[in-house]
Amino acid sequence: MSTLKKVGVLTSGGDAPGMNACIRAVTRAAIYNGLQVFGIRYGFQGLIQGDIHQLFANSVSNIIQLGGTILKSARSAEFTTPEGRQKAYEQLQKAGIQALVVIGGDGSYRGAHEFITAYPDIQVIGLPGTIDNDLGGTDATIGFDTAINTAMRAIDNIRDTADAFNRLFFVEVMGRDSGFIALHVGLSSGAEAILVPEEKTNLEALIEILDTGWKRHKTSSIIVVAEGDDAGGAFEVAAKVKQRFSHYETKVAILGHIQRGGSPTCQDRVLATRLGAAAIESLLQGKTGIALGICHHQIRETELLAAAQTRESINPSLLRLVDILSV
Ligand code: ATP
Repeated sequence: MSTLKKVGVLTSGGDAPGMNACIRAVTRAAIYNGLQVFGIRYGFQGLIQGDIHQLFANSVSNIIQLGGTILKSARSAEFTTPEGRQKAYEQLQKAGIQALVVIGGDGSYRGAHEFITAYPDIQVIGLPGTIDNDLGGTDATIGFDTAINTAMRAIDNIRDTADAFNRLFFVEVMGRDSGFIALHVGLSSGAEAILVPEEKTNLEALIEILDTGWKRHKTSSIIVVAEGDDAGGAFEVAAKVKQRFSHYETKVAILGHIQRGGSPTCQDRVLATRLGAAAIESLLQGKTGIALGICHHQIRETELLAAAQTRESINPSLLRLVDILSV
């Protein structure tokens, strides 16, 4: 029989669509199981400051469809210090909260790991909330599906205008260290090339692809560039290509933060809902120090630090597919 009575939930790091669906599931599953649940605003920073508020079933009504996070998010330099984590612990003690659900990315998982290393009497479960899809222990992170669909629709619109004017568009998508968004968005929008941080960019090869397209009278081309590509962002790559390839009018579009916002897709809502409820189940079973994810439709547990470190690498055969299909 679990002695758990009070659970806290927070969102941390970059916000992601589906975080609200996750907060709702954590809250309702906790209440269903007779627990009290507390929302901690502004992530770890809010925890340090005691920004803690009890949530009731109706506190999370009508939020499943909203992007962003009703609990707000933050990055906290103070939490990376032992003193900051001690303050956070004292706030939990004061509120009588025995367990935490941390919804965030790899940094949040590292922070949660450091926290329970110092304070093992607090149970912590991590849930993957980031648009980057760069965590281990899950096939997808909450927010990724929405982000790629938003970016894909934006590129569909760009393609219309690119086609009307014989334009070469360089579209920059999010991904400082990871090309997952660029790969999926590029494949689904029929991009001529995709540049990702995981693979060294070969500008000569890119120009050859564009040249082949030009010779067979292609009227427009779209190159998707992850913001962390080694050849630079979209502006830099566009400038380098323009010097060598002046047949098209060259344009750059930076999709930026539109990729973070918007109503979550069905897939993200279901993922967030399953994981939120599973986190409460795990806590009731006395589990701690793990991140939950879904792999092949099944809930999977991974040690927090392992989930933060083991990101899947992008599939090179999918990158090749872009080359094959852009002939
Ligand atoms: P995203 O990937 O979407 O940006 P994230 O969770 O990786 O999300 P970060 O800003 O890297 O975002 O991390 C969130 C917070 O976690 C940090 O602001 C910091 O408070 C805490 N954190 C990160 N790394 C550590 C660490 N090594 N030790 C303690 N706390 C950490």
